[in-house]
Order: sequence, then structure tokens, then C-alpha cells
Amino acid sequence: MTASVNVISHPLVQHKLSLMRERDRSIKGFRELLNEIGMLLCYEVTRDLPLEMVDIETPMSAMKAPKIAGKKITFAPILRAGVGFLDGMLALVPSARVAHIGLYRDPNTLDPMLATGNSACAGASLLKARGARDIRFVCLLAAPEGIAQFQREHPDVPIWTASVDERLNDHGYILPGLGDAGDRMFGTK
Ligand code: URA
Repeated sequence: MTASVNVISHPLVQHKLSLMRERDRSIKGFRELLNEIGMLLCYEVTRDLPLEMVDIETPMSAMKAPKIAGKKITFAPILRAGVGFLDGMLALVPSARVAHIGLYRDPNTLDPMLATGNSACAGASLLKARGARDIRFVCLLAAPEGIAQFQREHPDVPIWTASVDERLNDHGYILPGLGDAGDRMFGTK
């Protein structure tokens, strides 16, 4: 069975994404919005994390209270623009480990987008090779072509995204998309 594609239709996410798509959005604005959406997507992707009941003491009495079971959550942003999600996600899960994924030589894939699917597939393969379990892929935007490739190679990994756009252009950019996320975030064009 193929894992799910979760499109986050929350109005805050959709509103912020529309602001990011706008051509004239400043670098500062783009970066801030990516960070904020990272936080909101983190909230969604962690929604079903298992809880365990542990003993705690309130100022009033002892009780059993729910805490997230297991301690080994790792965020693995794909360089370069995937890093734009990181601060927002760490704000919600400050004790998470961080494993940067640097992929060489594919200029279309160094970002937080599921475009061709190449970087997402390579990233998931790297994590599996390092023993990661329960991998969840979060991206700002996805193209149908990238989703298809990712689901072919990693049918066990669910996807969270703010939007599934129409298609890729001949250069592997998402349409209507928002351009090159790395360039817009780092001001490199
Ligand atoms: N990477 C981007 O930054 N934008 C796209 O549209 C596709 C890949």
C-alpha cells in the first residue's frame, strides 16, 4: 500500500503560501514565511506521534500525564532551502536532532520542494541507509510528477505539503510554483 499525501489546507498555511508565491515578496518576507509555514507543517506532521503515560507531580498532586514516546526525533533538511523549515520546526520540537542532507550536482533538487522527486528520493534513501525508521517527508510544494516518483521509490513514506501544484516545466520548476526557493530565500539571484 502507498503511504498518504497530506495536503495541509489550514487557512494560515494557505494564506502564507500565497504570500510566498508573490513575485515581489522580499527575501526577508519569504524567509520569515518559510519559517512560519515550517512550524505549521511541523504541527501537522507530528499530529499522530505516539504518547506514553508517565508519572509527574503537579504542585497539587501526583498524576499520570501524556508525553511523546521515544526521544529520537530527527529533522533532516535537504540543503539548501530545506534549512528554511528548520528554525520553525525546532521551535516546536527543541530537543530534536538535526541531520543535514547535502545532495551534490542537481540544481533543481536542493530545496524544500517535491519537484522532480530526485532529491526527496535520494534523501529518503540516505536516511533509510542510516537506519531511520518512520520517515515522513515534508515539503512546501509538490508537483504530481514528483509525488509519483517518490511513491514509486518510497511507497512507505507519507508526504505532507502545503500544495500540489499543476505540473513541472521543462527545467524541472513547479508551475505555478514560486520560483527557485533557495534563490528567493538566500537572495542569490
Ligand atoms: N526547486 C525550486 O526551488 N522550485 C521549483 O519550482 C522546483 C524545484
